[in-house]
Amino acid sequence: MRGREPHRVLETAVVIGASMAGLCAARVLSERCRDVVLIDRDPLADGADWRAHVPQGRQPHLLLYAGARLLEEWFPGIGGELYAGGATEFDVCRDFFWYQSGGSLVRPVSRMRGPVMSRPFLEATVRRRVTELPQVTVRERTTGTGLVTDATGQRVTGVRLADGATLSCDLLVDATGRQAKSLAWLKELGYAEPPVSRVTVNTHYASRVYRRDALPARDWKAAAVIGDPATKRLAMVLPWEGERWIVGLVGINGEVPPTDEAGRLAFARSLDSPVIADVMAASQPLGEPVSHRFTANQRRHVEKMRRFPLGWVMIGDAVCSFDPIYGQGMSTAAQQAAALGACLDRSAALDQTFTRRFFRAAARPVVVAWSIAAGGDFMYEGTTGEKPPGTDLLNRYVERVSVAAQHDAAVCVRFTEVAGLIRRPEWLLTPAFVLRVLRYARRGPVGARQAPASPPPLHPYSPGP
Ligand SMILES: Cc1cc2nc3c(=O)[nH]c(=O)nc-3n(C[C@H](O)[C@H](O)[C@H](O)COP(=O)(O)OP(=O)(O)OC[C@H]3O[C@@H](n4cnc5c(N)ncnc54)[C@H](O)[C@@H]3O)c2cc1C
Repeated sequence: MRGREPHRVLETAVVIGASMAGLCAARVLSERCRDVVLIDRDPLADGADWRAHVPQGRQPHLLLYAGARLLEEWFPGIGGELYAGGATEFDVCRDFFWYQSGGSLVRPVSRMRGPVMSRPFLEATVRRRVTELPQVTVRERTTGTGLVTDATGQRVTGVRLADGATLSCDLLVDATGRQAKSLAWLKELGYAEPPVSRVTVNTHYASRVYRRDALPARDWKAAAVIGDPATKRLAMVLPWEGERWIVGLVGINGEVPPTDEAGRLAFARSLDSPVIADVMAASQPLGEPVSHRFTANQRRHVEKMRRFPLGWVMIGDAVCSFDPIYGQGMSTAAQQAAALGACLDRSAALDQTFTRRFFRAAARPVVVAWSIAAGGDFMYEGTTGEKPPGTDLLNRYVERVSVAAQHDAAVCVRFTEVAGLIRRPEWLLTPAFVLRVLRYARRGPVGARQAPASPPPLHPYSPGP
């Protein structure tokens, strides 16, 4: 997108919600509108604090390569800025200890490099860059409460605010997250809600931050240990700026990770690999554990809406929110924002064709991420909802892919590219790749014994009685 003439089709756009989806939308719109107003009901402090209406910011967030790549394209140098602020530079193959299906994946060098950091730090850095764009005005503590339309009710012309004022616009982007506020406002105007798909899964996070400074060097920078699906347990440790770790323990469909430190350690020790328990045992906790519950993958099929007003679109979690264990939400939001830019470039007017084109284009990355997350969740007993035909077979095949990725660098890289949303899942099904997977999977899982042992802790932390 850099280096080309701005293709302006709009005077004013308003984006409701200044979280990751809204920030990406504002960036894309800044090249195509004279004025972009980005509003959020929260105070938006300069610092990297978590926000009341983005409570998931206290949980581990991994920015997949698809998202990291788009952010770097839109905000040149943002990776360097994040590293300078304490983010960890990370090759998602080389630097990630990823234990799944009974062994750890091999760790070849890959092209998939990006920053790992806390979610609030990432968001604050992106927000600062968006605020610097001359076309964009960011308004904090500003709550949208309804839509303004033309006399026919068929075109959205603005948003009503809680203080009684209105903001006029040519295009309104709803980036209000999973609740998708504008759908209730549209209902008042007589529009039906889009059809919804739900795959219900009970995913419980209990995360805690630890100090990182006393730890010995390890040959990985982040780790995820995914237990056998029957255990319904997994855990991850990610580096945060400020020399911290965040350790997220996750239980699925009835498994609830404890929040007392002794119980947390026992939970981590129950996993097949000791690496995360070792980090916890050697680290000093900072602050209390924080829990978060996610109840269902939810996709609104906006592309199937029969009637919708012109000048209105939705993006991000408002359209689709995925089980967070797959780490897809921010990257899919960025991919949808990229689709918005591409569709605006192909449209001379904000007519039906534009809206339909955008909803169809934005559905493409959503379908891919949905197939991974909602499909993958059916590995856990107790997951309910619409199960696409072939899901069980595919899940069994993915188990084999992850076993083969414990032996073979090429399998590992492609598997990681699919998980990182830069290749479509079909790439795991080409005949040559399937043969390779079957050949290596025959060797069986490498097992915990062959996983790189963590060095003994230098200053063990005792959680006390
Ligand atoms: C536990 C957990 C872990 C996760 N881990 C990852 C991960 O590892 N990687 C990843 O990519 N994603 C992860 N996600 C998903 C990620 O957090 C979201 O996908 C991402 O925040 C994009 O969401 P969004 O911007 O669409 O909505 P949200 O982040 O929900 O933001 C909505 C915004 O809209 C504002 N708002 C709402 N209503 C109004 C209104 N009426 N007026 C004004 N403002 C309003 C809110 O204040 C908020 O700022 C995780 C989610 C959870 C729950």
